[in-house]
Amino acid sequence: MINKNHLKSSALQFNVMLDDTALERFDRYAELLVFWNKRINLTTITEPREIEEKHFLDSLAFLKYTSPTKNSSLIDIGTGAGFPGLALLIARPDLKITLLDSTKKKLNVIENILNELHLSANLIHMRAEEAGQNPEFREKYDYSTARAVANLRDLSEYCLPFVKLHGEFIALKGSSGKDELNEGKAAITLLGGKTQGFYTFKLPDGSERSIIKIKKIKNTPKKYPRPSAKIARTPLI
Ligand code: SAM
Repeated sequence: MINKNHLKSSALQFNVMLDDTALERFDRYAELLVFWNKRINLTTITEPREIEEKHFLDSLAFLKYTSPTKNSSLIDIGTGAGFPGLALLIARPDLKITLLDSTKKKLNVIENILNELHLSANLIHMRAEEAGQNPEFREKYDYSTARAVANLRDLSEYCLPFVKLHGEFIALKGSSGKDELNEGKAAITLLGGKTQGFYTFKLPDGSERSIIKIKKIKNTPKKYPRPSAKIARTPLI
């Protein structure tokens, strides 16, 4: 379905080496995405080339700027149809990946796709604000990440509580990344984070993307994350 050679060479430009197994899995993942998208609303991106670039490659950009050591743990908050977490698992099957989403139907699809691809990940059906207060998940991961879930200020409150001390929260953003970083600075500090890097790049179709790397330098104060209504009512500024 996808052009595997094209995906392989574009990933290489992000310093990501995809072997034949990974390319086969991406191909099957694209087919399953189109199949499931006819049954439940997962994505507006359904053309093979677009899936390849706007979902797969965009997710793999995480690995252009971050090199997790073998067996590192990573949680993807609001994973939806598996971006970036499931795409990262295909590229790096050694990683211990957790995929969290508040929508059960989407996690059911993810479970099916994982089975089809012979991969395993931990699935959590919870809101990020609840899971972040749960001792089972709080400050337990080397990395947290998210794409297309919330603005960076609110997203930091969702994502930083999951990160271990000295771990990193990697936010995948579009062209608004710089503005979001300015608006989110105070929140990041309050939550125990420190911005380590801001990177911009373009996808092959020319669309702008950014990645924000935030290191956890202090434990997140116990009162965060707050319940979602509170986050919406009183943003951290
Ligand atoms: N990350 C995927 C991507 O980039 O394609 C999905 C993005 S989709 C626009 C947002 C996803 O985040 C949805 O699947 C939604 O259920 C989930 N989500 C939104 N707020 C959430 C929260 N507070 N806790 C857990 N999941 C949440």
